[in-house]
Amino acid sequence: MKDLIIIGGGPAGVAGAVYAARKQLKTALIAAEIGGQSAVSDGIENWIGTPKIAGTELAKNFEAHLAAVKGGAVELAVGEEVAALTKADGGFAATTKAGKAFAARAVLVASGARRRKLDIPGAAQFENKGVTYCASCDGPLFSGMDVAVIGGGNAGFETALQLLAYAKSVTLLHRHKEFKADPVTVEKARAHPHMRLLPNSEPAEVVGDRFVSGLRYKDLGSGEVKELQVAGVFVEAGLIPNTDFAKELVDLDPVGRIAVNPKNQRASAEGIWAAGDCTDELYHQNNIAAGDGVKALEDVYLWLKTR
Ligand SMILES: Cc1cc2nc3c(=O)[nH]c(=O)nc-3n(C[C@H](O)[C@H](O)[C@H](O)COP(=O)(O)OP(=O)(O)OC[C@H]3O[C@@H](n4cnc5c(N)ncnc54)[C@H](O)[C@@H]3O)c2cc1C
Repeated sequence: MKDLIIIGGGPAGVAGAVYAARKQLKTALIAAEIGGQSAVSDGIENWIGTPKIAGTELAKNFEAHLAAVKGGAVELAVGEEVAALTKADGGFAATTKAGKAFAARAVLVASGARRRKLDIPGAAQFENKGVTYCASCDGPLFSGMDVAVIGGGNAGFETALQLLAYAKSVTLLHRHKEFKADPVTVEKARAHPHMRLLPNSEPAEVVGDRFVSGLRYKDLGSGEVKELQVAGVFVEAGLIPNTDFAKELVDLDPVGRIAVNPKNQRASAEGIWAAGDCTDELYHQNNIAAGDGVKALEDVYLWLKTR
């Protein structure tokens, strides 16, 4: 039996593994891949200490850091996806889809999240050809153009405010009459001369030829289908946490994220910690995920050594 199983190879899981190695905890890092969500980003400009780095390069750096600490205490199981996490004698057992089994006294869940995709005709066809899920990565590509944002929560409005720095105009669509975002943020966007808000509007189809040229939507008030001439469609329809395998063991919030104590990243079950985008903390970023992983490991270490 190991001391610790870490599930996930994004910034949270990799930070956890590096700290586990330094603390000489016998650890298995199980990860479908190394890099995490921002591996697809063209340029990450807020990874502290690095002015700009491509997502693929950041993933390579994570791999290099893991290669430097593996062996000794840390075993890597990359390309393995955890299908089930259960209680076992003296700790927990994780079984992967390929049938490999791991057991440990403690578990750090760092399995992150995936973006909820836009499910309308044309959305998949034009992904990365105008339909995008990341304003901080792709926003500057739409400099001087008209763009749409789908989603009336804080993420949608923050995306819109970010895009206003580059775009000619930003139109934000939201299915409901009332926006979900904080009123202050809504008013800040509304006050901008290049911002247009379309509540009560349901996206219907992304249209274009090689690249996006427009977004059809239904005006839910009149029932009329209208079309916006836009080159970019930024989707902020929420995140889906990768927590299915843990849902019988720990408390989740209403959207499936693991509830944690933000002081130490402990989940509701003794012996389980969670870090990064799979948790119910308010903000999700690479640096935060890595910090969570570190915070969790400090606590895991104390817990293991004082039992
Ligand atoms: C396109 C894009 C661009 C972004 N750009 C930025 C940016 O510029 N700056 C920034 O700070 N943040 C950015 N973010 C957000 C940032 O990527 C996340 O906050 C961060 O990746 C969260 O890290 P994490 O380790 O919690 O989870 P993730 O990065 O989601 O990593 C989860 C890991 O768990 C693995 N995994 C999932 N399920 C299982 C399973 N069942 N078994 C085994 N392994 C599993 C995955 O393969 C992955 O290795 C961006 C996000 C996206 C989508």
